[in-house]
Amino acid sequence: MTNDYRYSMQPQAFASAPTPAVRPPEAEARSTSPEPSLKNPEPSPKIDVKDVRAYYGTNRVLNNITLAIRTNEVTALIGPSGCGKSTFLRSLNRMNDVVPGARVEGTILIDNQDILAPSVDVVDLRRRVGMVFQKSNPFPKSIFDNVAFGLRINRMTRSREELRGRVEQSLKAAALWDEVRDRLQMSALSLSGGQQQRLCIARALAVEPEIVLMDEPASALDPIATQRIEELIYDLKSRYTIVIVTHNMQQAARVSDVTAFFWLGSLVECGRTDQIFTAPSQKLTEDYVTGRFG
Ligand code: ADP
Ligand code: MG
Repeated sequence: MTNDYRYSMQPQAFASAPTPAVRPPEAEARSTSPEPSLKNPEPSPKIDVKDVRAYYGTNRVLNNITLAIRTNEVTALIGPSGCGKSTFLRSLNRMNDVVPGARVEGTILIDNQDILAPSVDVVDLRRRVGMVFQKSNPFPKSIFDNVAFGLRINRMTRSREELRGRVEQSLKAAALWDEVRDRLQMSALSLSGGQQQRLCIARALAVEPEIVLMDEPASALDPIATQRIEELIYDLKSRYTIVIVTHNMQQAARVSDVTAFFWLGSLVECGRTDQIFTAPSQKLTEDYVTGRFG
């Protein structure tokens, strides 16, 4: 097993973070001292998974997964069906809590806080760690009300004006605004499949998550809708930490910075996506990414 990529990654991970056009004065003052990134080239990961095991009843489906996930990157989880990708993804926002018989052990630190601790407020955790599923699942409500849903239940806006602004902002972030701005009161179910999936992304973004988990978000979509989702994922990474499960290796190669290959509940290899696809260190990874088994 190799999982040493966390020790070899360069601070270039932050190259995609937006740079302010005008430097604030205090940044000038600081710039005379050495860059913090040079002193500490390995800032702590956004999500630090250590020895995570998951069970359904007595059946162990994740074997001591250790993996560091960094901010402003897209991390793709690949591997054959049943290898534990969805279980792993769901453990990152405690969604396995709602699966009967499921149990997760080990440590998952998000910003250094152990989210598996019983004292964690899971409602707040799931606001911070949003999720988008394979099958888009808009509520049978208007487009507007779908996006406003989480803002309303979390009482995140103080006026109708602010609510409208946040809905618009979220629809723009999900690259859907131009298609729906004139029909916000129409049912979300009147949208196409690809639009519904972008609506679900807008709904997830509305509550200002830091991390977005996507479980095969494009696998039910046609190629054009898939391309839009992939472009969107690429755009979103400058503001979020994104973890995506995909069974489509070309998609992993196109959208992700880091790829983690799972097999039979174990993490076989994790590394920069180009390395995983061109020079994997494990034979099993090579066999999988070259399509020798699936
Ligand atoms: P993947 O997403 O890679 O296809 P999953 O995480 O869905 O894999 O499944 C991993 C293993 O856990 C599989 O053997 C699957 O049958 C089992 N599993 C998944 N969900 C449940 C469940 N709700 N109850 C029992 N077993 C489950
Ligand atoms: Mg799955």
